Amino acid sequence: MAKISINLGTGDVQKETNVIIGIDLGTTNSLVAYIKDGSATAVKDENGKHALVPSVLYFDKEGGILVGDLAKEKLVSDPERTIYSVKRLLGKQFGDLKEKQQFFSYKIIDDDQAAMVKVKVADKFYSPVQLSAEILKALKHRIEKELNANVSKAVITVPAYFNDAQRQATRDAGKLAGLEVLRIVNEPTAAALAYGIGRDQSEEEIIAVYDLGGGTFDISILQIQNGIFEVLATNGDTFLGGDDFDQLIIEHWKLTNPALSKLEGQAGLRLAAEEAKKHLSFEEKYSGQIEGLNLSLDRTTFETLLQPLVQKTIDSCKSALKDAALSSDKISRVVVVGGSTRIPFVKKSIGEFFKKKVYDELNPDEVVALGASIQADILAGNQKDILLLDVTPLSLGIETVGGLMDGIIPRNSKVPTKAGRQYTTSVDGQKNLKVSVFQGERDLVKDNRKLGEFILQNIPPMPAGLPKIEITFILDADGILIVKAKELRSNTEQTIEIRSQYGLSEEEMAKMLIDSMQNAEADMKVRSLLEARNESNNIILSTDKFLKQHDQILSTEEKEKTKEFLDKLKKVTAADNKDAINLAMEQLNEYTAPLAHRAMDVTIAKAMKGEEIGNIDKGV
Ligand code: ADP
Ligand code: MG
Repeated sequence: MAKISINLGTGDVQKETNVIIGIDLGTTNSLVAYIKDGSATAVKDENGKHALVPSVLYFDKEGGILVGDLAKEKLVSDPERTIYSVKRLLGKQFGDLKEKQQFFSYKIIDDDQAAMVKVKVADKFYSPVQLSAEILKALKHRIEKELNANVSKAVITVPAYFNDAQRQATRDAGKLAGLEVLRIVNEPTAAALAYGIGRDQSEEEIIAVYDLGGGTFDISILQIQNGIFEVLATNGDTFLGGDDFDQLIIEHWKLTNPALSKLEGQAGLRLAAEEAKKHLSFEEKYSGQIEGLNLSLDRTTFETLLQPLVQKTIDSCKSALKDAALSSDKISRVVVVGGSTRIPFVKKSIGEFFKKKVYDELNPDEVVALGASIQADILAGNQKDILLLDVTPLSLGIETVGGLMDGIIPRNSKVPTKAGRQYTTSVDGQKNLKVSVFQGERDLVKDNRKLGEFILQNIPPMPAGLPKIEITFILDADGILIVKAKELRSNTEQTIEIRSQYGLSEEEMAKMLIDSMQNAEADMKVRSLLEARNESNNIILSTDKFLKQHDQILSTEEKEKTKEFLDKLKKVTAADNKDAINLAMEQLNEYTAPLAHRAMDVTIAKAMKGEEIGNIDKGV
């Protein structure tokens, strides 16, 4: 659907589209994609040839800026005014880059170590955010021409290891380019989405995404569960990629033809090396010329040169698996990303290491953008009829004894997210446990909103406190909450799905938040009373049990004294003074602690003699 707007300045009629675009803002190349006639499509240049826009900027003397192929050409003719690899600077302070300065041929400003990095071109300073915004503008422009309409919303991808500052800088660059960035997505996640991995909510698997681009190498191990992508481990090398392969070729050429040394450092030689490399991905032999000098290379020689660097990437894969505590047979699929994975030797090495055929049907340098456009389309509501949110607006939790709210996913958590906690029973032989799910910030569930409840049944009879019941909340990107309860000793399990959590209007949500703030103090008081009562009830139960079980090893006086403390605790627990309850608990504990120790010694001694151990669990 398109909206028409009129530019009051020019009188032009401009169409607005609500297409949300997907952008891969890469170190070497960037591109934009969208869903065209139902399938993810990367947008090509005016001639319909290339989808990749080199992430290179050229600043001409008149203050104009070129982005992409035209700027890349200037690396040869006017390197001083040409900027590349801006992504390496995003969200960085100069101190972060000190050791890597020689990598950049342009000037990085270093007057203040703690300040954010700036780049100097001629007499002007630019921040990496501004520079990235220029690349994004070029992409925006490209798709606006294709659609003949304005676009204003985007999903942008970043490496899985990007920290908050780098992600925020990416968002800011989007904003500066006139794009509302609806979501920042991890590159490996986008690549998986492009292959349709993780779309089926019932799927559970672990995949590896191997991304070898122009200047960086990343390996990510992702766990996919209920449509949530969790990064289990990342590894890689931020200074290893296709550029290094080009350099190897140059070194090799110089060795075989010393006359080439005079071209050392020239971008022309670099481009020739890159051309040779690309050629060898499809042909066995390359031959070319530069300034009258012959250049040639065959695939076998190239592979010999490449071997040590490829081995480095495989070593990173090993480390990533080790960090994730996985063996390679636990990986169900391997997706390859990045232009450099077009090299047959690279692909073969990955396949051999993971012992799997790699996913390479899509263009490896487009796959991230394609995935971003799919994520964008989901956000646009075209793929599922569900509202999407970035964060959960209110806390989600369950009711615990005494009507207390126990928050499991705090408010403002990024979605998708997953969190869990262990609980136990409070009564001996308890067979069922009711799990009531609530949303809100108040300490008492009665003041929050109930989302649903279910009963975990058939817990095998065990003394109170012994069952281990794990409650897991899984909130997916679409705002659907799945609650699982599992008794870990017996593997009894129960799950519900709750869809209504965003049924609250903005107003209701605001009211709930205000209520929680205004009542914070009163809530606190009630909460601490109820907590004291819960704890006391548990102690009463376990002390009763203790008296019964160890009747024989306790003296009459010990039993009577214990009962006395116990009765006092029972009495104050029925009243409303939390301090009195806490005091009575302390007194009882103090008196019974040595008795419990003695009981334990006796039990252990019996066990050593081969007699059965009774239950000495106090129950929590
Ligand atoms: P990035 O993610 O770092 O922005 P890309 O994924 O676009 O980069 O990868 C760029 C790299 O891929 C460059 O080093 C380029 O030379 C290399 N590349 C592109 N096509 C081929 C090919 N056919 N064979 C070998 N390398 C290639
Ligand atoms: Mg990339």
